[in-house]
Amino acid sequence: MAKTLKTSASGRKCAFPHCNRLLSIYNHGTYCRIHRDRVAQARMSKAPYHHVL
Ligand SMILES: [Zn+2]
Repeated sequence: MAKTLKTSASGRKCAFPHCNRLLSIYNHGTYCRIHRDRVAQARMSKAPYHHVL
């Protein structure tokens, strides 16, 4: 085995539907950069829904 660096397995893909972006081995999340932001924003905007109306 090679040195144990802090990397994830290579060849992983973004978990967002229809997104086939390969994730960097340095990206330890399940989404690519773009979708990680989108998922975070979607969660934020859904939470205060009652207060907006
Ligand atoms: Zn993606």
